[in-house]
Amino acid sequence: MSAISLADVYRARQRIEGRVCRTPLVQSPALSRIAGVPVHLKLETFQPTGSFKLRGATNALAQLTEEGATRVVTASTGNHGRAVAHAARALGIEAAVCMSSLVPKNKVDAVAALGARVVIAGKSQDDAQVEALRLVREEGFAFVPPFDDARVIAGQATIGLEILEALPDTATILVPLSGGGLFSGVAFAARNINRDVQMIGVTMERGAAMHASLAAGKPVLVDELETLADSLGGGIGLDNRHTFQMTRELIDRVVLLDEASIARGIVHAYREERLVVEGAAAVGMSAVLDGVLKESRGPLVIVVSGCNIDIETHRRIIGAL
Ligand SMILES: *Cc1c(COP(=O)(O)O)cnc(C)c1O
Repeated sequence: MSAISLADVYRARQRIEGRVCRTPLVQSPALSRIAGVPVHLKLETFQPTGSFKLRGATNALAQLTEEGATRVVTASTGNHGRAVAHAARALGIEAAVCMSSLVPKNKVDAVAALGARVVIAGKSQDDAQVEALRLVREEGFAFVPPFDDARVIAGQATIGLEILEALPDTATILVPLSGGGLFSGVAFAARNINRDVQMIGVTMERGAAMHASLAAGKPVLVDELETLADSLGGGIGLDNRHTFQMTRELIDRVVLLDEASIARGIVHAYREERLVVEGAAAVGMSAVLDGVLKESRGPLVIVVSGCNIDIETHRRIIGAL
């Protein structure tokens, strides 16, 4: 049993229409040459907040608003926090984003600039999460999870609809994999339209919680390690309700990448595709460059999930190779 139906995905599309970009799907001649099959890039880098997370957040908030919610909260400091702040402003509801006192000022400022209330609590992500849940219990906020939520998954799934509509003979889709909201959604939509689409999850070797959980057959904890693909860090939750099960059912293969490979993907995107991408978004391109997809059928679509990389970090990576 999936958390969502195909009807949920079409309803999500109606809800987010006009608020979220229907992103371009562009061919990559350079990657097509390397892969030996046509390769296309689904450019979520063009979303107004710089990542696909706006789809799930907008669908979730629109649904919560329909149900009467007037204030939402999350504890994410990254792309999900930005997306919730942006979507709340667009829908005219209040958003709070809980963060620990260790979160860098530029991230705090970015969320505040989107009109969200920043709540500083404690010294860790866990402390921030506790504060978010307190706001839910005591102040009537609705919590918006970053991935393990049916409304969020249905929002991310609209990417799968768009891919299959733009390129009906898509044979393989590569999706960055972390908590699995993106993967579950895209795979669910794509497989419901064409059951033969091959679904590949791509993630980093360093601290890949979903990969470790798939291997263990149940959600497990992993040590969080620093990686260029910082948006792929974090656990899947030991009490995971949807994305572990869905990912397990829908995934054909997981590709794991080392840090040098992720850097090559970022450099390739810049030099050959003229795109600034963050590490988490480069992984599909890295996998093609590494030549690990030789058995995959084409056309092949790579979900390029976001562009929110620190610009100095980006410059260092581009300069180093
Ligand atoms: C959140 C995120 C991912 C991973 O999405 P999950 O739903 O957690 O698997 C990939 N890329 C970017 C840029 C992200 O922000």
